[in-house]
Parts: sequence; C-alpha cells; structure tokens
Amino acid sequence: DHAKAQFAAKRPKTHAMHKRAAHVMPGGNTRTVLFTAPFPLRVETASGSTITDIDGHSYLDLLGEYSAGIYGHSHPRILEAARAALDKGLNYGAHHEGEVKLAEVVTQRFNMDLVRFTNSGTEANMMALAAARCFTGRSKIMPMAGGYHGGTLYFSHGASPVNAPFDCVMGEYNDIETTRKLIADNADQLAAVILEPMLGGGGGISASPAFLAMLRAETQTRGIVLIFDEVMTSRLHPGGLSAKVGIEPDLKTLGKYVGGGMSFGAFGGRADIMALFDPTSPTALPHAGTFNNNTLTMNVGHVAMTEIYTPAACAELNARGDRLREKLNDLFMRYQVKMKAMGQGSMIVIHPTSGEISTPHDIEDTDKRLRQLLFLDLLEQGIYIAERGFMALSLMVTDADCDRVVRAVEDYVNRR
Ligand code: PLP
Repeated sequence: DHAKAQFAAKRPKTHAMHKRAAHVMPGGNTRTVLFTAPFPLRVETASGSTITDIDGHSYLDLLGEYSAGIYGHSHPRILEAARAALDKGLNYGAHHEGEVKLAEVVTQRFNMDLVRFTNSGTEANMMALAAARCFTGRSKIMPMAGGYHGGTLYFSHGASPVNAPFDCVMGEYNDIETTRKLIADNADQLAAVILEPMLGGGGGISASPAFLAMLRAETQTRGIVLIFDEVMTSRLHPGGLSAKVGIEPDLKTLGKYVGGGMSFGAFGGRADIMALFDPTSPTALPHAGTFNNNTLTMNVGHVAMTEIYTPAACAELNARGDRLREKLNDLFMRYQVKMKAMGQGSMIVIHPTSGEISTPHDIEDTDKRLRQLLFLDLLEQGIYIAERGFMALSLMVTDADCDRVVRAVEDYVNRR
C-alpha cells in the first residue's frame, strides 16, 4: 500500500487522466493486461528504449509491448518504411506487391508452405483452429489448461466465457502421460492440439522436447492437426522456436513484431490444409478481413524482417537476453531470495519463487504481491516491466541497460 501511495503521489496528471478514462471505458481500460493498481502508467512519448509518462517520468522500456516491440520506439528505418508506404496511398481494396513480399519472407523464414495474414494473433489462432476443424471434419480442440492464445482464446481452468465458441479437452502442459491419454481417449473427436512451445505470457515455461515429441507423434498417427502458437516465441530463433527444438507442427501462427510494429497476425503451414482457403476451390473456406493486407503492415513488416530483425540480429538479441537472465538468477542465488528468472533468449519472466518450475501449476500459488512490489520498485528506479514479471528486450536495449537492470533489482533485493 505504501508503494502504491508513493506511485500515485508522484503522478497527479496520470491519476486525473485515469479518472477521465474511466468515464468512457470500463475501469479506464481497453487492454486488460495493461491495468495495474492503483492506476496504470500513461505514456506521452517514446523514443529508442525510453518511454516518458504524462507526468514527465522516463523509463527504460523492458516490457517491449509484450514482445511486439522488438524494434524499440521510432526506429528510423521503420519510420522511413512507414512514410514510404503512406506516400503510395493507404489500403487499396485490392491486392498489391507488399503482401507477396511479406508472404515470401514469412514462409521462407518460418518454414511454411503457404500463409495467410490477419490483423492480430488472436485472429490467426481462430483461423488456424477453424482450418483444423474443417480439414479433419472433427469439432473438438485441445488447448493446454491455462493456455493464452488471444483475447477471445484464453483457456483458463475455470469457466471463462470467452472460450465458449470451442468445445475443449484441456491438455496439461509438460505432463506427457496425462495428455497422451486425453488425446487417445478423444482421438476421433479432436481436430487440433494447440499450444505455445514456450508459454510466453503464461510465465516463460518451456515445453520439454519430450512433451513436444509426444504431441507430434500422437497427433500424426491420429490425424489431428498440431498447431504451434508462435505469436511470441517466433522471435526466439531465426526460424521460430519450432526450428530451434526441431519439431515441426502442421500449422503455425504468428503475430506481434513480424508486422514491423503495426497490427499483425498470420497463420500458415502445410499446403494441403492451407489449400482450404483457395478461393478457386468450390468448397473454399472464406477468410476475409478489411485490413488483412493493409499496406502499412505489409510494407513495413517486409522491411523489418529483411533489414532489421535479420537472423543475425535475432541471434544477438537472444544472446543478450540469455546473459541478462543468467545475471538475474546469479543475483537471486547469491542473496538467497525467493525469485527466479524464467524464459528463453530475449523473453524473461521473474517469478517470486525459488522452487522448480516445469508446469503452470508450479507458479499457481506464488505470492503475487511480491511481483507487484518489484514492479512498483523498478518503476521508481525508472524501469518499466510488466507487473506479472514479464520482460521482452527490444533491439534498442543495450548491454549497459541490462547491467542497469541487474543493479536495480539488486538494489530492490538489498532493501527488502
Ligand atoms: N498468442 C499468444 C501466445 C500471445 O501471447 C498473444 C498476445 O499476447 C496472442 C496470441 C494474441 O495476439 P494479439 O494480441 O495480436 O491478438
């Protein structure tokens, strides 16, 4: 409470704007994940790796727009590409070269036969699931319990009205025997198994290679479509996390950074499944979307993926993240505090526990107030992460910035 009061006292304009927002949006909010008590930051400007709030406080941005903000803020090449796209007119209501160029890069880089674009990762997952149901003629899907695949696709254990459109059998992440049995018991009704090869927003927990190999084998023999949601994880390796672990699903979904920071989503993979969407087929599945091929995303995304987030840049960024995670874990060990940094490469999640974390159940009972304290403390030290401990490095974050983060966390640990 003291930390919250301190936060509020220093941000009178933000407080006033929050009250104004609450008159027109429920809780002043239009993105649940951005709400933090007593009220969230409100940003005025951003540049490079720095964001500045409307009360004039600046922060090192380590949240990185939940992994979409790989390029940092106002990357000069992104701005140039956006201006060039704007100069040629916005959204034609027709096809253009931009979508072909981005599709060429995406299919090549992420090993897909064919791809289609959407406006968000949520839509990409909705469409991949629809494709699987149509392709198999079956209706059920298997997400993992607690799996997050977008605003309307959160498969929480309890009754979550947002996943109502699907009849689900919940798998258990990293639990080979339970999940294998569930697949076997429901095989003739299951259209798809969908999961992230590493839980991103779900806590930076990696799927074990054995779990993924089991899913690949079971789905293959039973004619179930295996979908990897790589909306977040594709940034962890030049070919996405599936390439890193060497297990190829039937369909993959993408989102976040691939559109150069513009609204983006994509789903793609096996040619025989994606052919469902070929409009020359008399039984084609419709998939429309006014902004699916919007000129800004297509053109800026192409520049971003070919000139900025190149395979070399990807490798360097992930190595920097690995170094930061290691330093944080060294620190937690040295001070013997109950904290642990999970994740891979440039995505890091700090949990308030020192115990083993291999499934989502291992973090269910951790003390969320400790994470909240760290979040508020780092804000006071000029560092912005997600309240849930999530960080995603942008290309603008330097090794010196990472050292600053380690010092700030050490400072917090020292004062506790
Ligand atoms: N899938 C995963 C794994 C995500 O983390 C997210 C967003 O955080 C989504 C899907 C949804 O993407 P979008 O927010 O673009 O709809």
